[in-house]
Amino acid sequence: MTEMRTLKVALLGCGNVGAQVARILLEDADALAARTGARLQLSGIAVRNVNSRRDVELPQELFTTDADTLVKDADLVIELMGGIEPARSLIVTAIRNGACVVTGNKALLAQDGPSLYEEGDKAGVQLSYEAAVAGAIPILRPIRDSLSGDRITRVLGIVNGTTNYILDQMDTTGAQFADALAEAQRLGYAEADPTADVEGHDAAAKAAILASLSFHSRFALENVHCEGISSVSASDIAAAKDAGFVIKLLAIAEKLNDADGNEGVSVRVHPTLLPREHPLAAVRGAFNAVFIEAENAGELMFYGQGAGGTPTASAVLGDLISAARRLVLGGPARTETTTGHVPALPIDAAVTSYYIGLDVADQPGVLAKIAQLFAEHGVSIEIMRQTIHRDTESNVESAELRIITHRASEAALAATVEAVKGLDVINSVTSVLRVEGV
Ligand code: NAP
Repeated sequence: MTEMRTLKVALLGCGNVGAQVARILLEDADALAARTGARLQLSGIAVRNVNSRRDVELPQELFTTDADTLVKDADLVIELMGGIEPARSLIVTAIRNGACVVTGNKALLAQDGPSLYEEGDKAGVQLSYEAAVAGAIPILRPIRDSLSGDRITRVLGIVNGTTNYILDQMDTTGAQFADALAEAQRLGYAEADPTADVEGHDAAAKAAILASLSFHSRFALENVHCEGISSVSASDIAAAKDAGFVIKLLAIAEKLNDADGNEGVSVRVHPTLLPREHPLAAVRGAFNAVFIEAENAGELMFYGQGAGGTPTASAVLGDLISAARRLVLGGPARTETTTGHVPALPIDAAVTSYYIGLDVADQPGVLAKIAQLFAEHGVSIEIMRQTIHRDTESNVESAELRIITHRASEAALAATVEAVKGLDVINSVTSVLRVEGV
C-alpha cells in the first residue's frame, strides 16, 4: 500500500471559527484523510496571545505568534484572523509561496478581492472563501460550479443574521428598532458596535462577492449601493404587515439594462418589502438564505446558519478539502472566470416596485392630485390605501396614505417623491421602501 501524502495546514486565528476548525482537523483527522487522499496535518496556529483561553482544548505547542514563519512552511493556509492587516499580507505571502488559501474574511475580500484573486491566478494557487458569504450555507460553490452551465439572472440574499433577527423581532412583537437591537445585543446576535451590521456594510461586502461570482465579473464594495435598517420604523413594519408584506434586508444582484439600453448589473443592499408568501419571507431569526433565479434552473433557494463558530467551520473545511484534493491530484488551480465584463450600474438604473407612506391633509381631492402626479412622472400605482386618524385631544383629523407602485426606475421614483413633497396637501413623506417578489 502506498504511503499517504501529508499536507501541512497553517491556521491563522483561533477565535470563534478558528478554534472549531482546529478541533475538527484534530478530531476527524482519519475521516478527513480518507476523503482527501492525504493527511491534513495542523502544523501550527497563529494568534495574538498564545496564553488566551480557547473555546476548545488544543495542544499548547501548536500556538505561535510568528504567523509569517508558519505561513511560509505550509501547503495550505486557513486565514481566520479577520481584519485587513496582517491578514492581507499573510495571504499574499502564502500565495507567493505556492500555498492554497482558505479564508472567511469578507471585509478583506470586498476591499481587496480583485488583487488577491489576481495573485492567486498568477501563482496558480487556489483562493477559496465559501465561509465569507452566509456562513455554513454552501452557496459560492453551487454558483461557481453547479450553475456554471447556466446563466444567473438575479440573486436575492438574506446574508446578515443580525439584521434579520432585528427585523423578525420587529415583525413578530411590534418592537421599535432600538428595542429589537438591544434584545439582539443581549442575546449575542449583535455586537456592542452594531454599525457594520445595521447599516448594511457587512451585507454589502457579501453582495459584492455574490455579484462577482454570479455574473463572472469583478465588483467591489464601491459598486454596491448600500442602505441599512436603522431608519425602518415599527409603523413601516406594521404597514407592510397590513398589506401582506414582510420587511427584509436584502443583498440584491441582478442583470438590467440602463435607460440607454446598456446591459449591466445592479448590486445593492436595502430594506425590502417581500410578499409573505415569498420563500425568503419565511427566513426567521438569525438564519440566512440566498434565492437565485437562473435562466435554465429557474428558482433555487439555499438556507441555513449564516454565522457561528461550528457552522462556519463546516464551510472552511469543505474549501480546505477541495483545495487539498487538487494538491493530491495535481492539475491547474480553479480560477474565477471574469469573462462576463458586465459593468456595475448606478442605483438610478435599478427597477423595482416601491412602497410609499405619506402623511396627507384629510381633504377632498387629495387622492386624485397624488394619483395625477404619479401618472405625470410615469410611475403607475398598483395599490393606494388611506387610513384616517383622529387626534383625541385636538380633534384634528389626519390621513395616512400607503401606496404600492408597479415597477418603475429608481430615477423616476425619486423624481416623483420630490414632486410629491411639493404638493400643498402633503404633510410629510413618512417612508419610501423598495418592494421585490411581486
Ligand atoms: P475572532 O473570534 O475575533 O478570532 C480572531 C482570531 O484571530 C483570534 O484567535 C486572534 O488571536 C487572531 N488574531 C487577530 N488578529 C491577529 C493578529 N494580528 N495576529 C495573529 N492573530 C490574530 O474571529 P472569528 O469570529 O473567528 O472570525 C474569523 C473570520 O471569519 C473573520 O474574517 C470573520 O469575518 C469570518 N467569519 C466569521 C463568522 C462567525 O460566525 N464568527 C462567520 C463567517 C465568517 P487571539 O485569540 O490571541 O486574540
